[in-house]
Amino acid sequence: MMGLSSKVNYLRRQAADILDIIYPPACGLCGQPAETEDRLICRKCWDSVEMLEAPYCLECREFMPDSLTCPHCSGKTIAVFSLGYFDSTLRSIIHDLKFNGLKPLARPLGDKLAELIMAGSKTPSFDMIAAVPLHYSRQYLRGFNQAEELARELSRALGVPLVEDILVMTRKTRQQARLSASRRAANVKGAYALGENVSSLKNGSVLLVDDVTTTGATIRETARVLYTGSARKVTAAVIATAS
Ligand SMILES: [Zn+2]
Ligand SMILES: [Zn+2]
Repeated sequence: MMGLSSKVNYLRRQAADILDIIYPPACGLCGQPAETEDRLICRKCWDSVEMLEAPYCLECREFMPDSLTCPHCSGKTIAVFSLGYFDSTLRSIIHDLKFNGLKPLARPLGDKLAELIMAGSKTPSFDMIAAVPLHYSRQYLRGFNQAEELARELSRALGVPLVEDILVMTRKTRQQARLSASRRAANVKGAYALGENVSSLKNGSVLLVDDVTTTGATIRETARVLYTGSARKVTAAVIATAS
C-alpha cells in the first residue's frame, strides 16, 4: 500500500505533469518551451553548442582523439575534455549555473560530458573524480561550488566515485576572468593544497573537474598539487574552454 507521503508525492508529480502540459517550462536561455529531459534548456539551444569531439592537450591545444597522451608535449601534459568553446550559449549556461543557483543544470551538463568522455574509441578509466575547490568564503556566499555539482553528476553518469576534500584552496585568489593571461598563473600559484582525503589518491588516475578553463592556469596548478600527492595521472573535464 502507498503511504501518505508517497501518495502526496505521487499526486504532486501528477499535478506538475499536468501543469507542464498547460504551461510548458520555458527555456532558461531563449524563453521558448523547453521540451527536453532537463526541462531547463530547449533542444535548439543545446544544439547550438558546438561540441568538441575529443580531448585536447592543455599545452599545445591539439586534439588527442585516441589517447590521453600528447605526442608533441613531453611528460605530464594534461588532456582536457571540454563540452565546447565559451560561446554565447555555454557562457549563459555557466552564468546561470554560477550565479542564479540553477543547480539542476549540472545534471544535463554532467550527462553530456560523460557522453563525450565515453565517445572515444577507447573509454579512459578513472579511479576517482575530484573538483577544483572554491575558497570557503566564496562557497559560503554562493552556497555551493559549481565545479563540485558538476563533478557529482559526472560521477553518477560515469560510475566513478567522487572524492571530496582531496584538494583545498588555501588562499583567496582574484577572479581569473578579471586578469590578463600572463597574471593568471601567478594568481593561482600556491593557492591550493592537498586536503584531508589525500590518502584516497593511492597512485590513482584522477578526473579533475572545473567549469571553465582559459589559459589552463588553475588546472595546471591543481594538477601539480595532485601530483605532489600520489596521483598517477590527471585528466581534466570542463564545461567550456575560453580563448
Ligand atoms: Zn532555448
Ligand atoms: Zn601537446
